[in-house]
Amino acid sequence: MGVKQLSLKLPTGYDEHLLRTRIAKKTGLTVFSYSIEHKSLDARNKRNIYWEIRVMVSSASLKDDLIATKPSLSISYKKRNEEVVVVGSGPAGFFAAFVLQKAGFNTTIIERGTAVKIRTEGIRQFEATGIFNPMSNYAFGEGGAGTFSDGKLTSRSKRISVEKAFILASYVKAGAPPEIEYMTHPHLGTDNLKIIVENLRRQFEAIGGTYLFETTMTGLQVKKGRVVAIETSKGDFEANYFFVAPGHSAYDTYRALINAGVGFHAKNFAIGSRMEHPQELINVAQWGRKSLPGVKAAEYRLTSKGDGNHQVYSFCMCPGGVVVPATAVKEANIVNGMSRYRRDEQFANAACVATINLGKMLNKDISALEALDWMEQIEKRFYDFSNQYKAPYCSIKDFINRKITSGNTASSYPMGIVQAPLWEMLPGDIENALRAGLKDFNRKINGFETGNLLGLESKTSAPIQVDRDENGCCTGFENLYVIGEGSGYAGGIISSAADGVKAAMKVVEQD
Ligand SMILES: Cc1cc2nc3c(=O)[nH]c(=O)nc-3n(C[C@H](O)[C@H](O)[C@H](O)COP(=O)(O)OP(=O)(O)OC[C@H]3O[C@@H](n4cnc5c(N)ncnc54)[C@H](O)[C@@H]3O)c2cc1C
Repeated sequence: MGVKQLSLKLPTGYDEHLLRTRIAKKTGLTVFSYSIEHKSLDARNKRNIYWEIRVMVSSASLKDDLIATKPSLSISYKKRNEEVVVVGSGPAGFFAAFVLQKAGFNTTIIERGTAVKIRTEGIRQFEATGIFNPMSNYAFGEGGAGTFSDGKLTSRSKRISVEKAFILASYVKAGAPPEIEYMTHPHLGTDNLKIIVENLRRQFEAIGGTYLFETTMTGLQVKKGRVVAIETSKGDFEANYFFVAPGHSAYDTYRALINAGVGFHAKNFAIGSRMEHPQELINVAQWGRKSLPGVKAAEYRLTSKGDGNHQVYSFCMCPGGVVVPATAVKEANIVNGMSRYRRDEQFANAACVATINLGKMLNKDISALEALDWMEQIEKRFYDFSNQYKAPYCSIKDFINRKITSGNTASSYPMGIVQAPLWEMLPGDIENALRAGLKDFNRKINGFETGNLLGLESKTSAPIQVDRDENGCCTGFENLYVIGEGSGYAGGIISSAADGVKAAMKVVEQD
Protein backbone atom coordinates (compact mmCIF):
# COMPACT_ATOMS: atom_id res chain seq x y z
CA MET A 1 0.00 0.00 0.00
CA GLY A 2 1.43 3.38 -1.00
CA VAL A 3 0.42 6.87 0.05
CA LYS A 4 0.38 10.27 -1.63
CA GLN A 5 -0.33 13.75 -0.33
CA LEU A 6 -2.46 16.05 -2.51
CA SER A 7 -3.59 19.67 -2.24
CA LEU A 8 -6.99 20.48 -3.70
CA LYS A 9 -9.14 23.56 -4.10
CA LEU A 10 -12.84 22.80 -3.81
CA PRO A 11 -16.01 24.92 -3.93
CA THR A 12 -17.44 25.63 -0.45
CA GLY A 13 -20.51 23.48 -1.07
CA TYR A 14 -18.53 20.40 -2.27
CA ASP A 15 -19.65 16.91 -1.34
CA GLU A 16 -17.73 13.67 -0.92
CA HIS A 17 -18.45 12.58 -4.49
CA LEU A 18 -16.77 15.69 -5.87
CA LEU A 19 -13.79 15.24 -3.56
CA ARG A 20 -13.33 11.63 -4.71
CA THR A 21 -13.71 12.67 -8.36
CA ARG A 22 -11.00 15.31 -7.97
CA ILE A 23 -8.63 12.83 -6.28
CA ALA A 24 -9.26 10.26 -9.03
CA LYS A 25 -8.63 12.89 -11.72
CA LYS A 26 -5.41 14.11 -10.14
CA THR A 27 -3.96 10.65 -9.41
CA GLY A 28 -5.49 8.51 -12.16
CA LEU A 29 -6.55 6.06 -9.43
CA THR A 30 -9.88 4.24 -9.37
CA VAL A 31 -9.45 2.32 -6.10
CA PHE A 32 -8.18 4.32 -3.15
CA SER A 33 -9.01 5.58 0.32
CA TYR A 34 -8.21 9.02 1.69
CA SER A 35 -8.10 11.05 4.87
CA ILE A 36 -8.25 14.83 5.20
CA GLU A 37 -5.10 16.29 6.74
CA HIS A 38 -5.86 19.99 6.60
CA LYS A 39 -8.79 22.19 5.61
CA SER A 40 -8.99 25.98 5.52
CA LEU A 41 -11.28 28.52 3.94
CA ASP A 42 -9.73 30.99 1.53
CA ALA A 43 -12.04 34.03 1.50
CA ARG A 44 -9.54 36.64 0.37
CA ASN A 45 -11.34 37.10 -2.94
CA LYS A 46 -15.08 37.44 -2.23
CA ARG A 47 -15.92 36.34 -5.81
CA ASN A 48 -13.92 33.16 -5.48
CA ILE A 49 -14.16 31.66 -1.99
CA TYR A 50 -13.02 28.05 -1.75
CA TRP A 51 -11.80 25.34 0.63
CA GLU A 52 -8.15 24.51 0.45
CA ILE A 53 -7.87 20.83 1.39
CA ARG A 54 -4.84 18.60 1.87
CA VAL A 55 -5.61 14.90 1.64
CA MET A 56 -3.58 11.75 2.18
CA VAL A 57 -4.49 9.19 -0.49
CA SER A 58 -3.73 5.48 0.08
CA SER A 59 -3.84 2.87 -2.68
CA ALA A 60 -2.25 -0.47 -3.61
CA SER A 61 -1.48 1.13 -7.01
CA LEU A 62 0.73 3.81 -5.43
CA LYS A 63 4.42 3.49 -4.68
CA ASP A 64 5.37 4.38 -1.09
CA ASP A 65 5.75 8.11 -0.65
CA LEU A 66 7.87 9.39 2.23
CA ILE A 67 5.48 11.05 4.66
CA ALA A 68 6.88 12.60 7.83
CA THR A 69 5.32 11.06 10.92
CA LYS A 70 4.04 13.54 13.47
CA PRO A 71 5.58 13.36 16.96
CA SER A 72 3.08 12.20 19.56
CA LEU A 73 2.81 12.33 23.34
CA SER A 74 4.23 9.22 24.96
CA ILE A 75 2.92 8.69 28.51
CA SER A 76 4.87 5.90 30.15
CA TYR A 77 2.75 3.83 32.54
CA LYS A 78 3.99 2.20 35.70
CA LYS A 79 2.20 1.51 38.95
CA ARG A 80 3.07 4.47 41.13
CA ASN A 81 1.92 4.74 44.70
CA GLU A 82 1.92 8.52 44.84
CA GLU A 83 -1.28 10.49 45.28
CA VAL A 84 -2.01 13.62 43.27
CA VAL A 85 -4.74 16.16 43.95
CA VAL A 86 -5.80 18.42 41.09
CA VAL A 87 -7.94 21.47 41.90
CA GLY A 88 -10.26 22.47 39.04
CA SER A 89 -11.81 20.41 36.24
CA GLY A 90 -11.31 22.93 33.42
CA PRO A 91 -9.14 22.03 30.42
CA ALA A 92 -5.87 22.55 32.38
CA GLY A 93 -6.88 20.60 35.49
CA PHE A 94 -8.63 17.83 33.61
CA PHE A 95 -5.85 17.15 31.11
CA ALA A 96 -3.14 17.29 33.81
CA ALA A 97 -5.14 14.74 35.82
CA PHE A 98 -5.82 12.58 32.76
CA VAL A 99 -2.10 12.36 31.91
CA LEU A 100 -1.13 11.64 35.53
CA GLN A 101 -3.75 8.92 35.87
CA LYS A 102 -2.69 7.35 32.57
CA ALA A 103 0.90 7.36 33.89
CA GLY A 104 -0.13 5.37 36.97
CA PHE A 105 -0.59 8.00 39.71
CA ASN A 106 -3.64 7.93 42.00
CA THR A 107 -5.28 11.15 40.91
CA THR A 108 -8.22 13.02 42.43
CA ILE A 109 -9.85 16.03 40.78
CA ILE A 110 -11.69 18.36 43.13
CA GLU A 111 -14.12 20.79 41.55
CA ARG A 112 -16.12 23.47 43.37
CA GLY A 113 -18.96 23.38 40.86
CA THR A 114 -21.41 20.69 39.87
CA ALA A 115 -21.46 17.97 37.21
CA VAL A 116 -22.34 19.28 33.77
CA LYS A 117 -26.01 18.21 33.71
CA ILE A 118 -26.75 19.89 37.05
CA ARG A 119 -24.68 22.86 35.93
CA THR A 120 -26.76 23.24 32.77
CA GLU A 121 -29.94 23.35 34.85
CA GLY A 122 -28.36 25.83 37.30
CA ILE A 123 -27.50 28.18 34.43
CA ARG A 124 -31.01 27.87 33.02
CA GLN A 125 -32.47 28.81 36.40
CA PHE A 126 -30.06 31.73 36.84
CA GLU A 127 -31.11 33.16 33.50
CA ALA A 128 -34.81 32.61 34.29
CA THR A 129 -34.85 33.96 37.87
CA GLY A 130 -31.79 36.24 38.17
CA ILE A 131 -30.75 34.30 41.30
CA PHE A 132 -27.03 33.63 40.97
CA ASN A 133 -25.80 30.11 41.79
CA PRO A 134 -22.14 29.98 42.93
CA MET A 135 -21.92 26.22 42.18
CA SER A 136 -23.45 26.22 38.70
CA ASN A 137 -22.55 29.13 36.46
CA TYR A 138 -20.72 29.96 33.26
CA ALA A 139 -17.31 29.95 34.99
CA PHE A 140 -17.47 27.17 37.58
CA GLY A 141 -18.46 23.53 37.25
CA GLU A 142 -17.51 20.44 35.27
CA GLY A 143 -15.24 21.26 32.34
CA GLY A 144 -14.47 24.76 33.67
CA ALA A 145 -15.08 27.98 31.79
CA GLY A 146 -14.68 26.22 28.47
CA THR A 147 -17.84 24.09 28.71
CA PHE A 148 -20.33 26.83 27.95
CA SER A 149 -18.36 28.46 25.18
CA ASP A 150 -17.92 28.55 21.44
CA GLY A 151 -15.31 25.84 21.94
CA LYS A 152 -12.83 27.37 19.54
CA LEU A 153 -9.75 25.20 19.59
CA THR A 154 -7.26 27.57 18.05
CA SER A 155 -4.11 28.64 19.81
CA ARG A 156 -1.31 30.93 18.76
CA SER A 157 1.45 29.11 20.62
CA LYS A 158 3.74 27.16 18.29
CA ARG A 159 5.44 25.11 21.02
CA ILE A 160 2.53 22.90 21.98
CA SER A 161 1.94 20.82 18.84
CA VAL A 162 2.51 17.45 20.59
CA GLU A 163 0.24 18.34 23.53
CA LYS A 164 -2.36 19.84 21.17
CA ALA A 165 -2.48 16.65 19.07
CA PHE A 166 -3.05 14.60 22.26
CA ILE A 167 -5.82 16.96 23.45
CA LEU A 168 -7.63 16.99 20.10
CA ALA A 169 -7.39 13.20 19.79
CA SER A 170 -8.79 12.87 23.33
CA TYR A 171 -11.71 15.13 22.41
CA VAL A 172 -12.42 13.03 19.32
CA LYS A 173 -12.35 9.83 21.41
CA ALA A 174 -14.85 11.51 23.73
CA GLY A 175 -17.25 12.33 20.90
CA ALA A 176 -15.94 15.46 19.16
CA PRO A 177 -16.31 15.72 15.37
CA PRO A 178 -13.09 14.29 13.79
CA GLU A 179 -12.72 17.48 11.69
CA ILE A 180 -11.24 19.29 14.73
CA GLU A 181 -7.99 17.45 13.97
CA TYR A 182 -7.62 19.05 10.53
CA MET A 183 -9.61 22.32 10.37
CA THR A 184 -7.56 25.54 10.65
CA HIS A 185 -10.28 27.08 12.80
CA PRO A 186 -11.77 24.09 14.63
CA HIS A 187 -14.58 24.59 17.11
CA LEU A 188 -16.79 22.30 19.18
CA GLY A 189 -19.77 24.37 20.27
CA THR A 190 -21.27 24.13 23.74
CA ASP A 191 -23.67 21.32 22.73
CA ASN A 192 -20.72 19.03 21.90
CA LEU A 193 -18.68 20.22 24.87
CA LYS A 194 -21.35 19.25 27.37
CA ILE A 195 -21.23 15.66 26.06
CA ILE A 196 -17.44 15.58 25.71
CA VAL A 197 -16.58 16.71 29.26
CA GLU A 198 -18.90 14.07 30.71
CA ASN A 199 -17.41 11.34 28.48
CA LEU A 200 -13.89 12.42 29.44
CA ARG A 201 -14.84 12.19 33.12
CA ARG A 202 -16.07 8.62 32.57
CA GLN A 203 -12.84 7.69 30.77
CA PHE A 204 -10.79 9.18 33.63
CA GLU A 205 -12.83 7.27 36.22
CA ALA A 206 -12.59 4.07 34.17
CA ILE A 207 -8.78 4.13 34.53
CA GLY A 208 -9.03 4.67 38.30
CA GLY A 209 -9.25 8.47 38.68
CA THR A 210 -11.50 10.08 41.30
CA TYR A 211 -13.71 13.09 40.59
CA LEU A 212 -15.26 15.09 43.47
CA PHE A 213 -17.79 17.83 42.78
CA GLU A 214 -18.97 20.64 45.06
CA THR A 215 -15.62 20.54 46.86
CA THR A 216 -13.81 23.87 47.14
CA MET A 217 -10.16 24.32 48.02
CA THR A 218 -9.90 26.98 50.73
CA GLY A 219 -6.27 26.79 51.86
CA LEU A 220 -2.93 24.98 51.76
CA GLN A 221 -0.88 23.38 54.55
CA VAL A 222 2.80 23.96 53.82
CA LYS A 223 5.88 22.57 55.61
CA LYS A 224 9.36 23.61 54.48
CA GLY A 225 8.42 24.29 50.87
CA ARG A 226 6.25 21.19 50.53
CA VAL A 227 2.49 21.30 50.42
CA VAL A 228 1.37 18.48 52.70
CA ALA A 229 -2.39 18.92 52.34
CA ILE A 230 -5.02 21.18 50.86
CA GLU A 231 -7.94 22.35 52.96
CA THR A 232 -11.32 22.08 51.31
CA SER A 233 -15.00 22.56 52.09
CA LYS A 234 -15.12 18.77 52.58
CA GLY A 235 -12.01 18.33 54.76
CA ASP A 236 -8.26 18.11 54.17
CA PHE A 237 -6.64 16.11 51.37
CA GLU A 238 -3.06 14.90 51.68
CA ALA A 239 -1.03 14.03 48.58
CA ASN A 240 2.47 13.91 47.12
CA TYR A 241 1.77 16.43 44.35
CA PHE A 242 -0.76 19.25 44.06
CA PHE A 243 -1.89 20.85 40.82
CA VAL A 244 -4.07 23.96 41.09
CA ALA A 245 -5.91 24.96 37.88
CA PRO A 246 -8.44 27.53 39.14
CA GLY A 247 -8.99 29.55 35.95
CA HIS A 248 -8.83 33.34 36.21
CA SER A 249 -12.22 33.97 37.82
CA ALA A 250 -11.65 32.34 41.23
CA TYR A 251 -10.23 35.34 43.10
CA ASP A 252 -10.82 33.55 46.44
CA THR A 253 -8.54 30.73 45.25
CA TYR A 254 -5.89 33.24 44.18
CA ARG A 255 -6.06 34.81 47.64
CA ALA A 256 -5.80 31.39 49.35
CA LEU A 257 -2.67 30.64 47.28
CA ILE A 258 -1.15 34.05 48.05
CA ASN A 259 -1.94 33.55 51.79
CA ALA A 260 -0.04 30.26 51.67
CA GLY A 261 3.05 32.05 50.33
CA VAL A 262 2.66 31.38 46.59
CA GLY A 263 4.21 34.29 44.67
CA PHE A 264 2.11 36.18 42.10
CA HIS A 265 2.75 39.47 40.29
CA ALA A 266 0.52 41.79 38.27
CA LYS A 267 0.71 41.36 34.49
CA ASN A 268 -0.70 43.08 31.42
CA PHE A 269 -4.24 42.14 30.44
CA ALA A 270 -7.12 43.64 28.43
CA ILE A 271 -10.65 44.85 29.11
CA GLY A 272 -13.51 46.27 27.09
CA SER A 273 -17.00 45.24 26.03
CA ARG A 274 -18.60 42.66 23.76
CA MET A 275 -19.67 43.70 20.25
CA GLU A 276 -22.79 42.24 18.71
CA HIS A 277 -23.98 42.42 15.08
CA PRO A 278 -26.52 40.58 12.97
CA GLN A 279 -24.60 37.59 11.57
CA GLU A 280 -25.83 38.44 8.07
CA LEU A 281 -24.07 41.82 8.26
CA ILE A 282 -20.78 40.04 8.99
CA ASN A 283 -21.43 37.44 6.26
CA VAL A 284 -22.03 40.17 3.68
CA ALA A 285 -18.91 42.07 4.80
CA GLN A 286 -16.66 38.98 4.68
CA TRP A 287 -18.17 36.98 1.82
CA GLY A 288 -20.12 39.55 -0.21
CA ARG A 289 -23.35 37.57 0.37
CA LYS A 290 -25.67 36.58 3.19
CA SER A 291 -24.83 32.89 3.14
CA LEU A 292 -22.33 30.49 1.63
CA PRO A 293 -23.10 26.80 1.08
CA GLY A 294 -20.90 24.50 3.17
CA VAL A 295 -19.76 27.23 5.60
CA LYS A 296 -21.66 27.98 8.80
CA ALA A 297 -21.08 31.69 9.51
CA ALA A 298 -18.40 34.25 8.73
CA GLU A 299 -15.74 35.14 11.29
CA TYR A 300 -13.60 38.24 11.75
CA ARG A 301 -10.44 39.14 13.58
CA LEU A 302 -9.71 42.83 13.91
CA THR A 303 -6.76 44.74 15.34
CA SER A 304 -6.02 48.42 15.76
CA LYS A 305 -3.28 50.54 17.32
CA GLY A 306 -6.06 52.12 19.38
CA ASP A 307 -5.00 55.50 20.77
CA GLY A 308 -1.31 54.61 20.43
CA ASN A 309 -0.97 53.65 24.12
CA HIS A 310 -3.41 50.76 24.33
CA GLN A 311 -3.81 48.35 21.42
CA VAL A 312 -7.38 47.35 20.62
CA TYR A 313 -8.42 44.01 19.19
CA SER A 314 -11.35 41.68 18.74
CA PHE A 315 -11.16 38.51 20.80
CA CYS A 316 -13.02 35.21 21.13
CA MET A 317 -15.36 35.79 18.21
CA CYS A 318 -18.51 33.65 18.31
CA PRO A 319 -20.18 33.52 14.88
CA GLY A 320 -23.88 32.64 15.09
CA GLY A 321 -23.68 32.69 18.88
CA VAL A 322 -25.05 34.37 21.98
CA VAL A 323 -23.68 36.81 24.56
CA VAL A 324 -23.86 35.26 28.05
CA PRO A 325 -23.74 36.47 31.67
CA ALA A 326 -20.41 34.88 32.63
CA THR A 327 -19.83 36.07 36.19
CA ALA A 328 -18.28 33.61 38.63
CA VAL A 329 -19.45 35.50 41.71
CA LYS A 330 -22.62 37.16 42.96
CA GLU A 331 -23.16 40.86 42.20
CA ALA A 332 -20.55 41.18 39.48
CA ASN A 333 -21.50 41.69 35.85
CA ILE A 334 -19.29 40.22 33.12
CA VAL A 335 -20.19 39.13 29.61
CA ASN A 336 -18.69 36.53 27.29
CA GLY A 337 -19.73 34.62 24.15
CA MET A 338 -20.93 31.12 23.41
CA SER A 339 -22.30 29.20 20.44
CA ARG A 340 -23.57 25.81 19.39
CA TYR A 341 -21.75 23.63 16.89
CA ARG A 342 -24.13 24.75 14.14
CA ARG A 343 -23.36 28.42 14.78
CA ASP A 344 -26.80 29.21 13.49
CA GLU A 345 -28.04 31.93 15.86
CA GLN A 346 -28.99 35.32 14.49
CA PHE A 347 -26.05 37.30 15.90
CA ALA A 348 -22.27 37.39 15.73
CA ASN A 349 -20.40 38.55 18.84
CA ALA A 350 -16.81 39.18 19.84
CA ALA A 351 -14.96 40.96 22.62
CA CYS A 352 -13.52 44.37 21.77
CA VAL A 353 -10.75 44.98 24.28
CA ALA A 354 -7.85 47.34 24.92
CA THR A 355 -4.59 46.23 26.53
CA ILE A 356 -3.80 47.49 30.02
CA ASN A 357 -0.63 47.83 32.02
CA LEU A 358 -2.35 48.68 35.31
CA GLY A 359 0.77 49.98 37.03
CA LYS A 360 1.45 52.36 34.16
CA MET A 361 -2.18 53.44 33.93
CA LEU A 362 -2.46 54.19 37.66
CA ASN A 363 1.12 55.45 37.82
CA LYS A 364 2.19 53.24 40.75
CA ASP A 365 3.50 49.77 41.51
CA ILE A 366 0.63 47.29 41.63
CA SER A 367 0.73 44.09 43.63
CA ALA A 368 -1.17 40.98 42.57
CA LEU A 369 -3.75 41.57 45.32
CA GLU A 370 -4.25 45.19 44.21
CA ALA A 371 -4.80 44.04 40.62
CA LEU A 372 -7.52 41.64 41.83
CA ASP A 373 -9.15 44.39 43.94
CA TRP A 374 -9.16 46.73 40.93
CA MET A 375 -10.82 44.10 38.76
CA GLU A 376 -13.46 43.32 41.37
CA GLN A 377 -14.32 46.98 41.68
CA ILE A 378 -14.97 47.44 37.95
CA GLU A 379 -16.90 44.13 37.71
CA LYS A 380 -19.10 45.34 40.61
CA ARG A 381 -19.60 48.75 38.94
CA PHE A 382 -21.24 47.07 35.96
CA TYR A 383 -23.53 45.12 38.29
CA ASP A 384 -24.43 48.22 40.33
CA PHE A 385 -25.50 50.10 37.20
CA SER A 386 -28.66 48.01 36.89
CA ASN A 387 -28.51 46.30 40.31
CA GLN A 388 -29.02 43.03 38.49
CA TYR A 389 -27.57 40.93 35.68
CA LYS A 390 -29.01 42.93 32.77
CA ALA A 391 -26.21 43.94 30.41
CA PRO A 392 -25.55 47.69 30.16
CA TYR A 393 -25.27 48.51 26.44
CA CYS A 394 -25.03 51.23 23.79
CA SER A 395 -24.66 51.19 20.03
CA ILE A 396 -21.11 51.34 18.66
CA LYS A 397 -21.95 54.63 16.93
CA ASP A 398 -23.23 56.11 20.21
CA PHE A 399 -20.13 54.93 22.08
CA ILE A 400 -18.00 56.75 19.52
CA ASN A 401 -20.14 59.90 19.91
CA ARG A 402 -20.67 59.53 23.71
CA LYS A 403 -24.43 59.60 23.28
CA ILE A 404 -27.06 57.51 25.11
CA THR A 405 -28.68 55.04 22.72
CA SER A 406 -32.42 55.42 22.30
CA GLY A 407 -35.12 53.08 21.04
CA ASN A 408 -35.38 49.31 21.25
CA THR A 409 -32.75 47.00 19.99
CA ALA A 410 -32.53 43.22 19.62
CA SER A 411 -29.81 41.21 21.34
CA SER A 412 -29.04 37.57 22.07
CA TYR A 413 -28.18 38.36 25.71
CA PRO A 414 -30.62 36.25 27.75
CA MET A 415 -31.12 38.46 30.83
CA GLY A 416 -32.14 41.73 29.17
CA ILE A 417 -30.14 44.79 28.20
CA VAL A 418 -30.28 48.36 29.51
CA GLN A 419 -29.08 51.57 27.82
CA ALA A 420 -25.92 52.84 29.52
CA PRO A 421 -23.03 55.29 29.07
CA LEU A 422 -20.41 52.54 28.73
CA TRP A 423 -17.78 55.20 27.99
CA GLU A 424 -18.23 56.52 31.57
CA MET A 425 -18.20 53.06 33.14
CA LEU A 426 -14.85 52.05 31.64
CA PRO A 427 -11.58 53.74 32.72
CA GLY A 428 -10.89 56.92 30.68
CA ASP A 429 -7.76 55.56 28.97
CA ILE A 430 -9.62 52.44 27.88
CA GLU A 431 -12.57 54.47 26.63
CA ASN A 432 -10.30 56.56 24.39
CA ALA A 433 -8.47 53.53 23.06
CA LEU A 434 -11.70 51.65 22.33
CA ARG A 435 -13.15 54.67 20.53
CA ALA A 436 -10.09 54.87 18.26
CA GLY A 437 -10.20 51.10 17.70
CA LEU A 438 -13.91 51.05 16.90
CA LYS A 439 -13.45 53.84 14.35
CA ASP A 440 -10.75 51.73 12.69
CA PHE A 441 -12.97 48.63 12.69
CA ASN A 442 -15.75 50.68 11.14
CA ARG A 443 -13.47 51.38 8.18
CA LYS A 444 -12.79 47.66 7.78
CA ILE A 445 -16.33 46.23 8.06
CA ASN A 446 -19.20 47.88 6.27
CA GLY A 447 -22.00 48.84 8.69
CA PHE A 448 -19.88 48.01 11.73
CA GLU A 449 -21.03 51.01 13.80
CA THR A 450 -24.66 49.86 13.60
CA GLY A 451 -23.79 47.03 16.02
CA ASN A 452 -23.99 47.20 19.81
CA LEU A 453 -21.49 47.12 22.64
CA LEU A 454 -22.58 45.11 25.66
CA GLY A 455 -21.38 44.93 29.25
CA LEU A 456 -17.90 44.41 30.59
CA GLU A 457 -15.48 41.96 29.05
CA SER A 458 -12.79 41.53 31.68
CA LYS A 459 -11.76 37.89 31.32
CA THR A 460 -9.67 37.74 28.19
CA SER A 461 -6.68 36.71 30.33
CA ALA A 462 -5.64 36.66 33.98
CA PRO A 463 -4.55 40.01 35.47
CA ILE A 464 -1.84 38.26 37.49
CA GLN A 465 0.85 35.64 36.92
CA VAL A 466 2.27 33.05 39.28
CA ASP A 467 6.01 32.80 39.97
CA ARG A 468 7.03 29.36 38.72
CA ASP A 469 9.99 27.58 37.15
CA GLU A 470 10.22 26.13 33.62
CA ASN A 471 8.67 22.86 34.87
CA GLY A 472 5.60 24.73 36.11
CA CYS A 473 6.53 24.22 39.79
CA CYS A 474 5.81 27.26 41.97
CA THR A 475 8.92 29.14 43.07
CA GLY A 476 9.91 28.07 46.59
CA PHE A 477 7.74 24.91 46.47
CA GLU A 478 8.71 21.32 45.69
CA ASN A 479 5.37 19.84 44.76
CA LEU A 480 2.91 22.63 43.88
CA TYR A 481 1.96 23.39 40.26
CA VAL A 482 -0.33 26.31 39.37
CA ILE A 483 -1.40 25.71 35.78
CA GLY A 484 -3.73 26.85 33.02
CA GLU A 485 -5.33 30.22 32.55
CA GLY A 486 -5.18 30.99 36.27
CA SER A 487 -1.38 30.76 36.18
CA GLY A 488 -1.25 33.74 33.84
CA TYR A 489 0.82 31.72 31.34
CA ALA A 490 -2.04 30.37 29.22
CA GLY A 491 -5.34 31.58 27.82
CA GLY A 492 -8.02 29.66 25.97
CA ILE A 493 -9.00 26.01 25.96
CA ILE A 494 -6.06 24.55 24.04
CA SER A 495 -3.22 26.53 25.58
CA SER A 496 -4.61 25.97 29.10
CA ALA A 497 -5.04 22.25 28.51
CA ALA A 498 -1.53 22.08 27.00
CA ASP A 499 -0.11 23.88 30.04
CA GLY A 500 -1.70 21.18 32.22
CA VAL A 501 -0.33 18.38 30.02
CA LYS A 502 3.18 19.86 30.04
CA ALA A 503 3.32 20.24 33.84
CA ALA A 504 1.93 16.72 34.35
CA MET A 505 4.49 15.27 31.91
CA LYS A 506 7.34 16.93 33.85
CA VAL A 507 6.19 15.12 37.00
CA VAL A 508 5.76 11.84 35.10
CA GLU A 509 9.26 12.12 33.61
CA GLN A 510 10.88 13.00 36.97
CA ASP A 511 9.20 10.20 38.87
C1 LIG B 1 -18.34 31.99 27.98
C2 LIG B 1 -16.90 31.67 27.65
C3 LIG B 1 -16.56 31.36 26.34
C4 LIG B 1 -15.25 31.00 26.02
N1 LIG B 1 -14.96 30.63 24.73
C5 LIG B 1 -13.74 30.13 24.45
C6 LIG B 1 -13.46 29.59 23.17
O1 LIG B 1 -14.32 29.52 22.28
N2 LIG B 1 -12.21 29.11 22.94
C7 LIG B 1 -11.23 29.16 23.89
O2 LIG B 1 -10.10 28.72 23.62
N3 LIG B 1 -11.46 29.67 25.12
C8 LIG B 1 -12.70 30.14 25.43
N4 LIG B 1 -12.96 30.62 26.67
C9 LIG B 1 -11.86 30.65 27.64
C10 LIG B 1 -11.61 29.24 28.15
O3 LIG B 1 -12.80 28.70 28.62
C11 LIG B 1 -10.57 29.27 29.25
O4 LIG B 1 -9.38 29.85 28.74
C12 LIG B 1 -10.24 27.87 29.75
O5 LIG B 1 -11.39 27.21 30.17
C13 LIG B 1 -9.24 27.95 30.89
O6 LIG B 1 -9.01 26.66 31.35
P1 LIG B 1 -8.50 26.38 32.84
O7 LIG B 1 -8.60 24.93 33.04
O8 LIG B 1 -7.20 27.04 33.06
O9 LIG B 1 -9.55 27.13 33.79
P2 LIG B 1 -11.13 27.05 33.87
O10 LIG B 1 -11.70 26.47 32.65
O11 LIG B 1 -11.57 28.40 34.28
O12 LIG B 1 -11.41 26.00 35.03
C14 LIG B 1 -11.13 26.28 36.37
C15 LIG B 1 -11.97 25.35 37.23
O13 LIG B 1 -11.47 25.40 38.55
C16 LIG B 1 -12.54 25.39 39.46
N5 LIG B 1 -12.07 26.01 40.69
C17 LIG B 1 -11.62 27.28 40.87
N6 LIG B 1 -11.26 27.47 42.14
C18 LIG B 1 -11.49 26.30 42.79
C19 LIG B 1 -11.34 25.90 44.14
N7 LIG B 1 -10.87 26.73 45.05
N8 LIG B 1 -11.69 24.64 44.47
C20 LIG B 1 -12.18 23.77 43.54
N9 LIG B 1 -12.37 24.11 42.24
C21 LIG B 1 -12.01 25.37 41.87
C22 LIG B 1 -13.63 26.18 38.75
O14 LIG B 1 -14.91 25.83 39.23
C23 LIG B 1 -13.43 25.76 37.30
O15 LIG B 1 -14.25 24.69 36.93
C24 LIG B 1 -14.26 31.00 27.02
C25 LIG B 1 -14.60 31.35 28.34
C26 LIG B 1 -15.90 31.67 28.65
C27 LIG B 1 -16.26 32.01 30.08
